Amino acid sequence: KDSSHAVLITGSTSGIGLAMAHCFGRAGYQVMLHGLADQDSAQALLAEFARYGSHNGFSDADLSTEEGCAQLVRDTREAVGNPSVLINNAGIQFTAPAHDFPAQKWQQILSINLSAGFFLSRDLLPAMRAANWGRIINIASVHGLVASEHKAAYCAAKHGLIGLTKVLALENADCNITANAICPGWVETPLIQPQIEAISREQQLDLEAARAQLVGAKQPMAKASRPEAIGELALYLCGDFASTITGASLPVDGGWTAQ
Ligand code: NAD
Repeated sequence: KDSSHAVLITGSTSGIGLAMAHCFGRAGYQVMLHGLADQDSAQALLAEFARYGSHNGFSDADLSTEEGCAQLVRDTREAVGNPSVLINNAGIQFTAPAHDFPAQKWQQILSINLSAGFFLSRDLLPAMRAANWGRIINIASVHGLVASEHKAAYCAAKHGLIGLTKVLALENADCNITANAICPGWVETPLIQPQIEAISREQQLDLEAARAQLVGAKQPMAKASRPEAIGELALYLCGDFASTITGASLPVDGGWTAQ
């Protein structure tokens, strides 16, 4: 593997995706950035990544439809060619009890957190197979392995993503292509902010105390993981020593799923 390898990281305008993009940029990859961002922030992001000296690209395709996924594939090929690494990271959250869960939120979470990963893998695998090398990394969650209340759609999508990961690992084992899921517990990003604010409101705690309460309730290690930790693990999965790690679901969760 040389520095001309390109990586597509969905949802890389924020949080874990953005941190992963910096890890891959630093490592010499061409990075295809993606996420919901306006033209100005997209330009600023590309300018920031220019420091790594590689040729990068950006797409704001909406991954909630199959056509949006096809658009991202077209944008990626145009900007950096066929990526040898695909990281399905874009995801959203919405919490409510199942008996009260809005159908539109259910569909949206299933589309973005699960179906997009399938459509992008389906469309980008033929080139990886032809090249006889590839990496698919799905950012799942501890909620792909265990459940929490009020997360019916999120848990269903993330459990599904882990199933998809295993199938892709089996089907592409003949072509030096690995497919793995990373399963973070709590990570400090904007995605968990509404949950921190809800605890702060309901229990009249300041945001710091609410964050500690949220993280400590599930993780024996009561500290959130850094987004860069997920990026470094993804990078490891693309390295030579990880060539036989496939079909795995790797928790980065402070002991959450050890219980
Ligand atoms: P984030 O909210 O910081 O970033 C989400 C990214 O997805 C953004 O770039 C956003 O533009 C993009 N996105 C959202 N909807 C989209 C759409 N319709 N089309 C295209 N892009 C869209 O979130 P994050 O915390 O960095 O989460 C990244 C991934 O990690 C998600 O799949 C999430 O489920 C997973 N995860 C997060 C945590 C955590 O504690 N933060 C824990 C476990 C798993």
